[in-house]
Amino acid sequence: MTEIVPVARAFEPAGLGQELSVRGWVLRSRSSGGILFLQLRDRTGTLQITARRDALGEPAFAAAEHVQIEGAVRVRGTVAEDRRAPGGRELRAEEITVIDAGAPFPIFQDQTEEFLLDQRHLAVRSQEHVAMWRLKASLLRAFRRFFDAEEVLEVTPPILTGNAAEGGAEAFRFDYFGRPGYLSQTAQLYLEALLAPNERVYALTPSFRAEKSRTPRHLTEFMHLEVELAWCDLDGLTDFIERMLVSVLHEIAERSGRELELLGRPPSELLSIVAPFPKISYESAVDRLRSQGFDFAWGRDLGTAEERALTLESRSPLFITRYPRETKAFYMLQSPDDPRTVEATDLLGPEGYGEIVGASCRETSIERLTEQLRARGVDPAEYDWYLDLRRHGNVPHAGFGIGIERLLRFVTRREHIRDTTPFPRTPSRHTP
Ligand code: ATP
Repeated sequence: MTEIVPVARAFEPAGLGQELSVRGWVLRSRSSGGILFLQLRDRTGTLQITARRDALGEPAFAAAEHVQIEGAVRVRGTVAEDRRAPGGRELRAEEITVIDAGAPFPIFQDQTEEFLLDQRHLAVRSQEHVAMWRLKASLLRAFRRFFDAEEVLEVTPPILTGNAAEGGAEAFRFDYFGRPGYLSQTAQLYLEALLAPNERVYALTPSFRAEKSRTPRHLTEFMHLEVELAWCDLDGLTDFIERMLVSVLHEIAERSGRELELLGRPPSELLSIVAPFPKISYESAVDRLRSQGFDFAWGRDLGTAEERALTLESRSPLFITRYPRETKAFYMLQSPDDPRTVEATDLLGPEGYGEIVGASCRETSIERLTEQLRARGVDPAEYDWYLDLRRHGNVPHAGFGIGIERLLRFVTRREHIRDTTPFPRTPSRHTP
């Protein structure tokens, strides 16, 4: 038996005229009389296979003809030129071994979104989905490369926790051997604990939010990339976020152009995103919204409609800084010159895509942290371990969280965030 090689080998200059064996899944199949055409797909691409009844012999030809879409075969043959074949070459089969003929594939064109979500375990193989998973992997690689270069240490915080760090209402609660347990909404408090002496740490973990809001940008489980930086103020934080995003967006533009094109985002558009990103205060965002006709009171959180209006016409991400205290979590640092606001910034994606990064400097005063916990109806004793961090080597620090799917939604111009993750979790769905 000839060595099994990736289908891409057939398209190499030296491939022409070679005998080789490939294996993979059948993307399309068409039989016309004595000739069978298969499109065979493996991790490196697709290759047209042509099989003649007289070359294969009757039983082998009949078996190959019965292979369903997404069935699996191994093929030995010779690479030949064919102008009509995708890529201009085909493999003329001398032998086809059926590995799994498969049952009729249930997915075809023009099916409803709900049906496709029910069949997600099979739909994830489509060309568009595969491009998305590859792009996502490429994006995560780019982040890791950036963090390695910046000496940010990867750490592994827990997912099962005893505190609902971002507020009880949106936490998934479960019974942890008779005590309340929560699925992590953020790893931030643990990253703060791991900050000394590493100075810069990050974690990539799933976060869980029991948000009932059915918006096109909320999942109940998402990949959360969180970073914590010691000795960092608001300017240092926005600088870091800018450099990071420009670096990863340019890297995927350069390395994953094919996937980006296929998903509808020309790589040049990502390359045109450069630092510095514009920054406006929450205060000016409110003024801007009012001038656009919004009846918006100071102190409210920016919702989907407001964030969209602020960036719809923009090609660059936009930082909004210094939010009202009440709209944000208990651990954010009070602004030095205004007790009503915190040193927090959200980065909104361009083109109306809304919040992609949530960032802030962290409060260092135990008194203020305790006060803020009480103001939110939380007993500070529950956070004693966290408050301890302010008792031992309490230094200025800041950090942020970025939703990988939120970023991908903008990058790939998807209407709904569920398209950016293989098995989306939303209030109405946690299967398959
Ligand atoms: P939003 O106001 O948009 O619901 P948030 O303020 O609750 O977001 P943070 O707690 O700051 O978000 O979380 C940091 C980042 O995690 C967000 O900027 C976003 O990219 C991502 N994120 C938060 N919640 C979700 C979610 N439900 N689904 C997907 N990504 C999310």
